[in-house]
Amino acid sequence: MKALAAAFRYSRGVETEVQELAAAVAELRAYLSWAEEGGPVMVALAPTRTATPTPTSMPKLPIVSLDEVRARMGECTLCKLHKGRHNIVFGVGDPKARLMFVGEAPGEDEDLKGEPFVGKAGQLLTKMIEAMGLGRQDVYICNTVKCRPPNNRNPEPDELAACEPFLKGQLASVKPEAIVTLGKFAAQALLREQTPISRLRGQWREYEGIPVMPTFHPAYLLRSPQEKVKVWDDLQSVMKRLGLERKR
Ligand code: URA
Repeated sequence: MKALAAAFRYSRGVETEVQELAAAVAELRAYLSWAEEGGPVMVALAPTRTATPTPTSMPKLPIVSLDEVRARMGECTLCKLHKGRHNIVFGVGDPKARLMFVGEAPGEDEDLKGEPFVGKAGQLLTKMIEAMGLGRQDVYICNTVKCRPPNNRNPEPDELAACEPFLKGQLASVKPEAIVTLGKFAAQALLREQTPISRLRGQWREYEGIPVMPTFHPAYLLRSPQEKVKVWDDLQSVMKRLGLERKR
């Protein structure tokens, strides 16, 4: 009888281990789905992470729909970026998304199409979102400024200041439970600090009362694919916070 009980305990232990292994394999497969192109793959199956802040309140801004925010923007001429644009690149995705990605500014492809993150970096972002078990339609994607800066230079302070109310309007309307900022510029602009992105990334912060996870920009990952493992670590932290599980 004792032997039977021991065998039963053993088989339950094996079953748990098999389940854990299956979960780890699924996670690895998700990571490899976007990480394996173009670079050495380093795998962190059990990321270590510092404690996350407790959930916080939503911003107290007038709640308007995204269409209203867009309508208020009209054919905006509040800053000099309007002079060179083809299209305002407002944002795309689920108006009630739980997760919002905020990049820096539209590039050429985005300016021509009027949609954020549609170029090479955008394609990588799409794969990252899919690796989280989501699609572009499930999240909301936008930028700190909505018009392309000339020659893809960084947005200037007056341009950021002119555009920030629209970003705040988008946040107040979508009310995401978390924001992922993409790259140094978006993180430093939202957090109003000059800490290098290498130190900001992976640490939960806050913007307008909403938890923010800064991570590297997909354009940087195209140049430095060895950094993808850190971004995957950050995205997993977001998934954990939102209780997201990849569909197997
Ligand atoms: N880079 C960004 O930061 N935003 C885009 O929309 C495209 C590229």
